[in-house]
Amino acid sequence: MKVSVDQTVCREYANCIVEAPDVFDLDEENGKVIALITEPDPSQYDEVRAAAASCPVKAITLHE
Ligand code: SF4
Repeated sequence: MKVSVDQTVCREYANCIVEAPDVFDLDEENGKVIALITEPDPSQYDEVRAAAASCPVKAITLHE
């Protein structure tokens, strides 16, 4: 799995960070989402999928 994020649509709701705090964070510069890990471990797949599903603006794309 590969994770990509689109800062141009992120609205800083932080739902993704609640779901997967080891994978997502907010950029200190602009407050938008960043992916701390772009190729998560299989043990993280469930939380990454939950994070992507939780984003109201679909800023997180998973390549599986
Ligand atoms: S849930 Fe979506 S809008 Fe909110 S911080 Fe994460 S990527 Fe951005």
